[in-house]
Amino acid sequence: MDGRPTNGGREPRIAIVGAGIGGLTLAIALRRRGIDATVYEQAPKLAEIGAAVALSANATRELERLGCLPGVEAASTEPTELIYRGWLDRERIAAFPVRNGRAYRDRFGAPYFGIHRADLQMVLGSTFGADGIHFGKRVSSVADGANGMRLDFEDGDSVEADLVVGADGVRSRVREHVAGRDVVRYSGTSAFRGIIPASSLPTLPDPQAIQFWMGPDAHLLHYAIGPDGKDVNFFAVVEGPAEWPDPQRWTIPVEKGESLAAFAGWDPAVVEMVGQEPFGLRWGLFTTRPLTRSHRGRAVILGDAAHAMLPHHGQGANTTIEDAVVLAELISRRGLTDLDRTLERFGALRRSRTRIIQRSAAATNDALHLTDDDDIAARNVRVGRFPVEFGWIHEFDALKSVQDDEERAGQALARQGAGGRGATSSGAGSRCAPVRPGSVPAAAPGG
Ligand SMILES: Cc1cc2nc3c(=O)[nH]c(=O)nc-3n(C[C@H](O)[C@H](O)[C@H](O)COP(=O)(O)OP(=O)(O)OC[C@H]3O[C@@H](n4cnc5c(N)ncnc54)[C@H](O)[C@@H]3O)c2cc1C
Repeated sequence: MDGRPTNGGREPRIAIVGAGIGGLTLAIALRRRGIDATVYEQAPKLAEIGAAVALSANATRELERLGCLPGVEAASTEPTELIYRGWLDRERIAAFPVRNGRAYRDRFGAPYFGIHRADLQMVLGSTFGADGIHFGKRVSSVADGANGMRLDFEDGDSVEADLVVGADGVRSRVREHVAGRDVVRYSGTSAFRGIIPASSLPTLPDPQAIQFWMGPDAHLLHYAIGPDGKDVNFFAVVEGPAEWPDPQRWTIPVEKGESLAAFAGWDPAVVEMVGQEPFGLRWGLFTTRPLTRSHRGRAVILGDAAHAMLPHHGQGANTTIEDAVVLAELISRRGLTDLDRTLERFGALRRSRTRIIQRSAAATNDALHLTDDDDIAARNVRVGRFPVEFGWIHEFDALKSVQDDEERAGQALARQGAGGRGATSSGAGSRCAPVRPGSVPAAAPGG
């Protein structure tokens, strides 16, 4: 087809719920393919205080294709190295060049960046254009309507659409329609986080690197962000509490000094950083349980709504960007006429990859928090093999994955048409090509 989905001769109505990373990337990717979408966002504007993301090559190659990379690069820091350290001393257990020698770009074909999440949203939002985003529109329910899916908003409005995409994060309303409630799981771990000036960290070695400090029942991850690396984003993860007091809330207030107490006795650079925790908050780390489907009727979910993961591979946003590109490409190629099959294919293509990363990220938590000396020694050896073990995450080409799959589907159909035997179309429900699992839990940059 010519890139425009047909829908009984009229323009398709595609409603995206959420102007986060997934919703905005999808809107841009669709527009690049000549397809309009309307985005509904609960917040009054694009802004998130105090959070950053690490963007890896599997996402930055897509941002480049979407024309967003120059804006992202201008707001980012490219880390010099990825360094793993022990909690008691500053011994480099393993270190790999990233910006240094262009090692990461040359290996994976796209850059690695640390960026303020609000800056990323701004770049995506301004690329798409504010006129396509309806702010202050909080979806309260999703249901079948007379002429498509109906979205009801808390302000009393409602709209209908031929396709509803839930890019509305971990506590997705669209997911309630697709997969019911009781999907979110508390991981039993929590974090203290913040963004602080690099100048306030005089004892920190290699401040422009992305670094993991690994210790008993806890770890600290940090990396520089912003155009000049002047700020450092940190994320300090601890075991517990065993139960999260209020499942409706992301954060709970903490007593002054609680974050510091959790890292007492660690290297002075760690204590210096965690002691500047700015919010007085503990963030619960939540995931979604694996879903067997990501669509129901004319509603589909992507990103955290579909597969929220622990941040220890730094892949929540990156896999969300992959999802958005794959969905846009499928819609562009297939249109909305056989939507059930198209959305089924989307789910099949994305589930295997995101589930393996989700599982690996959970296992990584344990590897970072070891207490037994023998286990630690073995873990430290494995960490030294990181680029080999986890290259499959970063080298993935989402657009190519769907293009190849569609090509195989086309070839299979052609063979069937020509009377060929035993050719199962991948587009007609066969399993998608397996990704190579990272069998060893060790952390990739992120958080
Ligand atoms: C502490 C932490 C650190 C992280 N670090 C990294 C990292 O380094 N690298 C990485 O790749 N990922 C990281 N992630 C994960 C990443 O932030 C998420 O995976 C990513 O933002 C998911 O994108 P999304 O579009 O699915 O959801 P979001 O970006 O959360 O966007 C959801 C949007 O939907 C809107 N919304 C929600 N409900 C409604 C509603 N009912 N009606 C209308 N709008 C609604 C929200 O306001 C929001 O704008 C981290 C996550 C956490 C918690």
